[in-house]
Amino acid sequence: MREKDRVKLCTGLMLTMATLCTAALFGAAADSVVRTFAQTAAAGAAQEARGPLYGLTIAVDAGHGGYDGGAVGRVSGVPEKGLNLDVAQRMEEMLRGQGADVVMTRTGDYALCDEDPPIRKKLQDMQRRAEIIRINEADMVISIHMNEYVGRSESGPQVFYREDCPAGRLLAGAIQEAMIGGLSPKKERPALGGDYYILTLGVPSVLVECGFLSNKVEEELLMTEEYRERVAAAIVQGVVDWHALPQEKPQPLAAVKREETQ
Ligand SMILES: [Zn+2]
Repeated sequence: MREKDRVKLCTGLMLTMATLCTAALFGAAADSVVRTFAQTAAAGAAQEARGPLYGLTIAVDAGHGGYDGGAVGRVSGVPEKGLNLDVAQRMEEMLRGQGADVVMTRTGDYALCDEDPPIRKKLQDMQRRAEIIRINEADMVISIHMNEYVGRSESGPQVFYREDCPAGRLLAGAIQEAMIGGLSPKKERPALGGDYYILTLGVPSVLVECGFLSNKVEEELLMTEEYRERVAAAIVQGVVDWHALPQEKPQPLAAVKREETQ
């Protein structure tokens, strides 16, 4: 082989090697891209299989109970405590179906206070609800109630959040919107800031007034299982909508420190 040909062969070999290396690199890169994509798709599919609320612990608080009946149906005389529990239990099942862990503050017709506590019964009841929510490290609180008013014409579901709490406001807005969409109430109310014990635990929290027991038409609706199922579904839809919002969720206000002696 002449000197010139040897150089040519060498260059040719080096080029071939370089091409092979590049191809190998590309191959490896493509392989890792495919793998990453496959892994992402698998993770997405796994999340879908677990449900969109997987990883969230949601406290559902059925308002009142036992000696404390709450608002009373103007026509039926039925207290809200049982209706609240029914909606809460429907929500429990639906939220679990969406992958969430659910903590119930009560599961029957009882108050959480002692017969004769050293502090106000209502306060002890609220403290114990708060304690259940705290020890279970719930990420969110949804308290279920029925409304009433002196006048009979007021109607429509309304969601309350802790005054000035951006996290609660966002969650309340999503649930209010889902309730309007899912229940088509005659009166469309806005979500409102309010002052409630259960909303001051330092996590995104809402209190849902499902409707007015002082309104004849709404009371009739709330007395039916079919409507309570729709109410529960609308609230759960609101949580799913909130969870799917693309923006970063605002931080809730810190828990209120209390001297619990009154
Ligand atoms: Zn109530």
